[in-house]
Amino acid sequence: MHSPPHLSPHPLKYPTAQLSSMLMRIGGEETEAASGAWLDVINPATGEVLDRVPAGGKEVVDAAVAAAEQASAKWAAMSPRERGKILFHAAGAIREARGELARTLTREQGKPLPEAVDEVRGCANVLEFFASVSGCLSGDFIRLGAAGDGIVVREPLGVCGAIVPWNMPVILMGWKAGPALVAGNTFVLKPSSTTPLTTLAIAGLMEKAGLPPGVLNVVTGTGETAGRAIVAHPGIRKVSFTGNTATGLAVRQAAAPLLKEVTLELGGSDPMIVWRDADLPKAVDGALHGRFYNAGQVCNAVKRVYVHEEIASRFTEELLARVRSLKVGDGLSPSVNMGPIQNRAQLDRVAAQVDQLRERGEGRILSGGSRLRGPEHDRGFFYAPTLVTEPDPGAAILSEEVFGPVLPVMAVPDLETAITEANRSRYGLGASVWTRDLGVARAVFDRVQAGVVWVNRHLTVPPEIPFGGVKESGLGRENGVQAISRWTRAKSLFLGW
Ligand code: NAD
Repeated sequence: MHSPPHLSPHPLKYPTAQLSSMLMRIGGEETEAASGAWLDVINPATGEVLDRVPAGGKEVVDAAVAAAEQASAKWAAMSPRERGKILFHAAGAIREARGELARTLTREQGKPLPEAVDEVRGCANVLEFFASVSGCLSGDFIRLGAAGDGIVVREPLGVCGAIVPWNMPVILMGWKAGPALVAGNTFVLKPSSTTPLTTLAIAGLMEKAGLPPGVLNVVTGTGETAGRAIVAHPGIRKVSFTGNTATGLAVRQAAAPLLKEVTLELGGSDPMIVWRDADLPKAVDGALHGRFYNAGQVCNAVKRVYVHEEIASRFTEELLARVRSLKVGDGLSPSVNMGPIQNRAQLDRVAAQVDQLRERGEGRILSGGSRLRGPEHDRGFFYAPTLVTEPDPGAAILSEEVFGPVLPVMAVPDLETAITEANRSRYGLGASVWTRDLGVARAVFDRVQAGVVWVNRHLTVPPEIPFGGVKESGLGRENGVQAISRWTRAKSLFLGW
C-alpha cells in the first residue's frame, strides 16, 4: 500500500527499438575517435558487452569545441524564447521516445525500467521547465543621475562543458544542458564511459527536433582522457561537473589556472531524522525509497537515519520487513524493484565498506551485507539491500559516502543529538525531517548543514528549486530559474548622455 511506484513490481512493456548509432555527436555528425580505440559498455545485470563507444581524448574535445564555436554566433543571436521553443520540441521528442530510451538506460545503467522511464521523463520535464522560463532572462537598467545611465545585459559565456557521472546520466544532462542552452551557450558534454548510450541517443533526438548541429556535442571517453581535456581546454569557459568529491577537487584545481568557472555537484551523506510523532508508515516508505531507489546510487539518497528512541524499534522492524521484500535482479524484469550496482569497481567499493564494518564489529547487520549469488545474480553486479543498526559513531560507513544499497539506522534520545550527529559529516547535500511538529521541522531546517531540507519526504528534486551542497558536497547551484543566468556573464554599458 505504501510502496512508491519505483519499488513495486512493474508491468511496463515497451518495444525494443533500435536507437541511433552510438558514435559521438560532434557538429551534428556521428564521429569516431581518431585513435580508432573503443570502450565497451557493459550491462551491469548480465556482465555482457552491450555496445561500444569511441574512446575519445584531446583530439575529439578539440573537434567538439571547434564545432561548438562554429555554432555559437548564430545560436547566441537568437532570443532566449526562440531557443526555449527548440528545447520544448526536443523535450517532446524525448518524451515520445521514452520507451526505447528507458530500455537503453536500464540496460546500460541497471535501474528498474520504471525508474528509467522516470529519469527520461525527468529529463524532458527539466528541458520543458527551462523552455518555459526562457523569456525570463533579463538585465538591468540603472539611473546614475547627471552622470548618465547604466545598462547591464547578460551575455552567454560561449562554449561550455559538462561532465556527468553514471548514476543518473539522463536527468543530469538535462540539468546542465537545459539552462546553458537557453542562455545561448553551445555545449560539449561528456557522459561517464560506463553509461554513454542513452545520452548519445538523446543528443541525436534533440538535433532531429531542431537543435542546430554543433550546439550540443557529446564526446565519449574516460575521465582521464576526454574529461581532463574538457577541463583543460582554453576554449571552454565554464565546466559543470557532477561526480565524486575527490574528482571534483581535481577538476577545480585543473580549471583554476585558466580562470575557468566551475560548478561542482559532488558526493553526499544525507541524514534523515525521524521524530517520535512521525507518520511511521510514511517514514518507513521514505527511508526505503530514499535509500534503495537506483540501488542507493543517488547523491542525495538517505544515507543515515536518526530515529527517535521511542519509535526506533518499530521503525526498524517495519523497515527491515520492507527491505527483505525487495526483489533484486535485472531491471528489465517486471518483478524486480532494485537493480544491480552500475559497475564492478563500485560493487567492490560498497562490499569493502560493509566488510570493514563487519570485521571491526562496528554495527549489527540485520539484512544483506554481501553480494547476491545464484543463477539470477552471478553474472551481474548485485549487492543485497543492507540494513545496519547502531553502527559505531566512528564507523566509516557514517563518515564516508556509501554509494550503494546500505542503510545505517541510529536511535537518538533527543533532537539536539539528532542534529549534532546529522552535522557530523564532511558532506552537506540534503537532509530530511519526518514530523508533524512545525517547531521540530523549523529547527532542523535552520540548523542542519545542507543545501536542501525536505519535510516528510526525501530525494525529490524538481527543476524549479535550486539544488546543490554545502561543505564538501559542492560549489554552486543547479536548477531554479536562476540557473539560466548562472550560465551568463554581466556586460555593462555606460550611457553618458
Ligand atoms: P566520478 O567523479 O568518478 O566521475 C564523474 C565523471 O567525471 C565521469 O564522467 C568521469 O569520466 C569524469 N572524470 C573522472 N576523472 C576525471 C578528471 N580527472 N577530469 C575530468 N573528468 C573526470 O564519479 P562517479 O563515481 O561516476 O559518480 C558517483 C559520484 O557522483 C558520487 O560521489 C555521487 O554522490 C556524485 N553525484 C553527485 C550529484 C550531485 O548533484 N551532487 C549527483 C549525482 C552524483
